[in-house]
Amino acid sequence: MECIFCQIAKKKIKADIIWEDKDVIAVYDIDPKAKVHALIFPKSHLGKSAHEKKVGLALKQIFSAIRIVAQRTGIDKTGFRVVTNHLKDAGQTVDHVHFHLLGGHSLGRMCD
Ligand code: 5GP
Ligand code: ZN
Repeated sequence: MECIFCQIAKKKIKADIIWEDKDVIAVYDIDPKAKVHALIFPKSHLGKSAHEKKVGLALKQIFSAIRIVAQRTGIDKTGFRVVTNHLKDAGQTVDHVHFHLLGGHSLGRMCD
């Protein structure tokens, strides 16, 4: 069974797509934790056991995409937070490399 993000990338599950290219896709989170809450992930499956080199390449592409998605959603000037939840202590629920992009209002400080 393909993971939920693979199914979104292949358009087997409907999602509100903000931006995509051939490798990366950005969609609105189904359960938003901020006014703007996007998920950015590679279209091909990269789980926790993925090869480091592949993850490295994907991270470059994802961070380029984040800049574009911040512009598209109008939060590039006001600010945003980028979060990834890795494994169980962070409460990760989908084992497919992804980043949350949050913004649209003051998010409060964290990591003091
Ligand atoms: P994680 O918990 O792994 O950091 O993030 C997974 C995110 O995927 C959660 O914020 C959750 O709301 C979101 N999510 C789960 N299923 C779907 C879905 O079917 N569509 C969309 N757009 N987001 C989803
Ligand atoms: Zn996947």
